[in-house]
Amino acid sequence: MKAEILSIGTELLMGQIVNTNARFISELFPQADVYVYYHTVVGDNESRIIECLKTAMARADIIVTTGGLGPTQDDLSKEVVARVLGRKLLVNEHVLERIRVFFSERGRKMCPNNEKQAYFPEGSILIENNMGTAPGCLIEHEGKIIIMLPGPPKEMQPMFSDFVIPYFQRKSTVKLKSRFLKLFGIGESAMEDKIKDLVSSQENPTIAPYAKQGEVTLRVTAKYDQKTQNPDDILNPVIDKIRHRLGQYIYSYDNEELNEVVFRKLVEKKLTVSFAESCTGGLLTKYLTDISGASKVLDSSVVTYSDQSKIRLLCVSKGTLEKYGAVSRQVALEMVKGLQAGSGTDIAVSITGIAGPDGGTEEKPVGLVYIAIGYKGSYSVRKLNLWGDRDRIRHMTCLNAFDLILENITKEEMN
Ligand code: ATP
Ligand code: MG
Repeated sequence: MKAEILSIGTELLMGQIVNTNARFISELFPQADVYVYYHTVVGDNESRIIECLKTAMARADIIVTTGGLGPTQDDLSKEVVARVLGRKLLVNEHVLERIRVFFSERGRKMCPNNEKQAYFPEGSILIENNMGTAPGCLIEHEGKIIIMLPGPPKEMQPMFSDFVIPYFQRKSTVKLKSRFLKLFGIGESAMEDKIKDLVSSQENPTIAPYAKQGEVTLRVTAKYDQKTQNPDDILNPVIDKIRHRLGQYIYSYDNEELNEVVFRKLVEKKLTVSFAESCTGGLLTKYLTDISGASKVLDSSVVTYSDQSKIRLLCVSKGTLEKYGAVSRQVALEMVKGLQAGSGTDIAVSITGIAGPDGGTEEKPVGLVYIAIGYKGSYSVRKLNLWGDRDRIRHMTCLNAFDLILENITKEEMN
């Protein structure tokens, strides 16, 4: 079914608030097999609301209004809907009593205005509002459904998720199921290139790519009739095709983050890690310890920012530092060896680099990072040439460190 969201409020038109209600509703509606075709925003003006409502009713099956359910003069939504549908506004005694109690419990005087919130177009189904005084309502009218919700997101969101979505889910046996594939080590456009034909030819399931700093997500969504279909039968063949083309970059088929996958694998394989961080200043350790239970896998971390600390804590030789500089493959290797000798963990990772914005040279520009790993007696170094600001460089370094760990510990799975 087609829906239109009619967001009512002059504040929206003035740019004072962002229409997050429309975004929220649009994002959730497909769960109930309802698809939003239009977003309309209109001010608190009676004739223009009437015009918008009529337009919406001519082109959508479901119209959701937000805003204008409050007690004040400019809150007109119910009045306008009642007029357009040719229905009376009737008082709901139960709601009126609740509003009275609400005010008396708080020792506040109830104005006649507040009574307005207990009036609804004739034939409405009430939508409870546990976060405020104004309930919403749903009206079925000549094959159309009009839903009225309050403006404040804190009130609107639970009403929408707890009432509106289940209401339409009950009406439909068509459901959606999504799988989220997470990729690292490939850019969004390179990825899209590899599956362009799949993306454009697939109608069910649909494939949608998203990118966030350094990571790419592919959402694969199947639409299925729960009476007759198993969503996995629709999803799996397409996921297999994607795996075939992009498998080497996919670290999760279940929407996990890179740090979560690394943690899970380390636990499964009963492996311990230690980190020596220079330019990331502990960020890698933070990302791993963001996960509860990290002590199962993380033994220790050191932040060795100065040359002196690299010598003192990791036994990096002064000569190597002088000859190659702190940001070098050689120093990264000595860091990781010194770290592992001390910590005795199965895996050790060291990081040294230039996060910027200062400190770069022509030979060693900002974004140059070396990550070394020691695992099962062998050592390797990944050299990165990252771009971006300090935050991005540090973040990308950590993702690469996790990816390097994964690469090392999953290598043996493939053999
Ligand atoms: P109230 O009883 O608070 O008056 P209401 O249902 O009458 O609620 P409005 O008066 O239109 O709603 O808006 C109240 C507040 O809700 C706005 O000041 C704004 O903070 C928020 N709000 C309204 N509409 C939206 C929207 N579309 N997206 C996000 N926030 C909104
Ligand atoms: Mg209001």
